[in-house]
Formats: sequence, structure tokens, C-alpha cells
Amino acid sequence: MKDATKCIHAGYEPKNTEPRVVPIVQSTTYVYDSTEDVAAVFDDPTRSLIYSRFANPTVMAVEEKINALEGGIGAMCTSSGQAASLLSILNLCQAGDSFISTSEIYGGTVNLFAFTLRKLGIECIFVDRNASEEEIGAAFRPNTKLVFGETLANPALTVLDIEKFARIAHSHNVPLIMDNTFATPILCKPFDFGCDIVIHSTTKYMDGHAVQGGGVIVDSGNFDWTKGNFPELTEPDESYHGIIYTETYGKMAYILKARMQLMRDFGCYPAAHSAFLLNMGLDTLDMRMKQYCENAMVVAEYLEKCDKVESVSYPGLPSDPCHELARKYLKGSSGVISFVIKGGREAAIRFMDSLKLASNEVHVADIHTCVLHPASETHRQLTDEQLKAAGIEAGMIRFSVGLEDVNDILDDIKQAFDKVD
Ligand code: PLP
Repeated sequence: MKDATKCIHAGYEPKNTEPRVVPIVQSTTYVYDSTEDVAAVFDDPTRSLIYSRFANPTVMAVEEKINALEGGIGAMCTSSGQAASLLSILNLCQAGDSFISTSEIYGGTVNLFAFTLRKLGIECIFVDRNASEEEIGAAFRPNTKLVFGETLANPALTVLDIEKFARIAHSHNVPLIMDNTFATPILCKPFDFGCDIVIHSTTKYMDGHAVQGGGVIVDSGNFDWTKGNFPELTEPDESYHGIIYTETYGKMAYILKARMQLMRDFGCYPAAHSAFLLNMGLDTLDMRMKQYCENAMVVAEYLEKCDKVESVSYPGLPSDPCHELARKYLKGSSGVISFVIKGGREAAIRFMDSLKLASNEVHVADIHTCVLHPASETHRQLTDEQLKAAGIEAGMIRFSVGLEDVNDILDDIKQAFDKVD
């Protein structure tokens, strides 16, 4: 199946007389004929459903759909993108471990990595995505468990050189984990370029209508955990009758451990109703992504020529420093544009407050055009140094082009610029 067909059909095949649309299984639990049957499922939870804290048929249909789109071996949904980032790391790292991340990532992820995980004894070493392979290699320690990056960074809009980072990670026997939220599998399939695990905030384009919050982890099944230093996967799990995930589940070791151990213990699984809403967004993901890219290209070209704008970051523009990487890895650069307005913070705020169609909100990647000022909103907790490392300037505006008629979006931008001296 092609992506547009997978968006509609993957993950759910109704049989004779069953509902056409993925049903909402609004039940926390599942019934068994005997105690023996229940005991057997506890021995191997992959055989059937136990409890909706870590598995539910509605959510699982969505997991299968996203897994099919990414080309993975298995997926697990979470109740937010943050939970997906957290569990993707905790599935490999214990206190005393470290990992490497590029510094151009979402501000919430910076917080999680730099502060909260550090409190748990897990250290994140940030690297510049443009650093040489030798420089990045120097950040590795014997306890380094993974490398992390974003396909299309939020809000810097830079493109990760996936093959370079996969090569570096694999030469140190660790996996590359990527946040593919902005690209979605429609614009980029990181597994094709050597990435091992993908995560998403499904709150963004996958949903697209701003009606639910969620996340997902997808495993390519390609990384050989037995060749690296991953006792979490290759040694007995005391909390699961001494199971050794790599021995019992082979290529599915990582994604099944995430569900059986971490989701069991942390319980950040989405509600069936949220998965139902997400599934409706996914139905149209392929066609929406193409239209976002088309609209954003028109807006980016306009901004690039506008004399009130200092610079525009949109990898679809031939002048963008990441254009070649975008051509290599992406089928389009999404609907998100970052630009720096002349006049800094004050001009940015005046422009944003003057918009009429585009809404000022803490969201992105939606059918509604929306704007955000990273320096005073999502990234306000970062120090000036961290802001710089994340590629954020005081006058930077993140403009998320929606699916309205692009001429209306342009008219709105023009009238807001008129209000800025
Ligand atoms: N990853 C990226 C790239 C994001 O933009 C976000 C949120 O904006 C997240 C992860 C976190 O996702 P959520 O807000 O669903 O927790």
C-alpha cells in the first residue's frame, strides 16, 4: 500500500458485519474464561489484552497504522509526545548512564534531558549538529546508550543529517533515536536512512486538528542490542519473572520491553477516545502534509522577499542552509516556517498581536494557521546560551502555516506587517 492508502486502511481490517470505522473500545479491562487463561497472559502479555493501562484495541489499531507508515516492526502510543521522549530514553538508560543529543531540539525536550533526567542520574551531552564526526565522537563515554536528534528541528527548522548521525551512533554500538514530529512519515522515513527508533508528538500533524494530545514510539527492529552494552534488554528483568527481552522477543525486544515494563510501571497510555480522534487525523495525513508544504512554500517565498524580515528558515527555500539536506531526506519541508523580524522582540510581539486570521497560541502543525514567539513563550525557560544553541533569536517567530486559502494567510501577514514600524 502507498502512504495515502495506509493512512486510511492500515491497522484495522473489519470482518463481515464489523464496524467500518475503528470502534472506541471504552473498557479498562478484558474478560477471560479461567484463572489459568489470565495466568498465561501474565506470563506472556503479548498473547492477549490484560488491562488498558498498557494496551487497548483502539489504541493498538492506531499503533499499527503509524508503524506501517514508518515501516517499523512495532509501535507503542503514549499519552503525550513528552512521554514518548521520556520512555524512549528510559528504555535504555539507567542512573549512571549518559546519552548524546543535538542541541537543536524542542525546548520541552531540552528541559527533560538537561534537568529532569539529570535528577534521575542520567546525563545528556548536547552536541552541535554541524560538528565533525570526530568532535561528536569525542562526546561518547563507556556509559553512552544512544544518540538523539530531530528530523526537522522545532523551532530552528534545521534538518538533521540522518546518515551522518546514524553512522556515528552505530560506530559506537548505540542506536539513533529521532523525533520525527514535524516531518511525519509522509515527508521523511528515518528508518530508510539508518535511524533505529522514531518518536513523535502525535499532538501535531498526525492529529492535525488540535483535538487530542499524544505520542508514539516506533521501533525499526534493526538494531542488534546484543552487540552493544544494553543490560536492560540482554539481562534478566527481575520485575518480569527474569525475562531476557532479546532472547524471548528477538527484534521486538525494545518495543515490547517499553510496553511490558515501562508502560506497566509509568502508565502513560492514551485513552481509547484520544486514539479514535488521532486515527481520524491520520486518515488524511498524506493529503494534508502535501498541502501544508505547498502553502508554506508560498508564504516562505513571500517572507524571503519582504523588507521587514531579517531572515527566513524554511528548508524548502533554495537559499536555506539546510536545503540540500532537505532535498536528500525530505519530500517536503512541512508547514512550519521560522523567521526573524527586523526590530527584535518588540517588533515580533507587535506583528503577532496584529494578526487576525492566524492565532497566537501554544501549538504548531495544525489545520489552523498559528504563531508563537519562542523566546518569550515555549523556550522562555532556556538561558541565553541555550537559546543560541537551539538556534533561537529574540525576534524569531514560528509561523505554522495551516490549510486555509494561502491568499488569505498572505493578506493577514501583510496587514500585520503594516502595523510594525
Ligand atoms: N517533540 C516535538 C518536536 C514537539 O514539537 C513537541 C511539542 O511541541 C514535543 C515533542 C512534545 O509533545 P507533546 O506536547 O505532545 O507532549
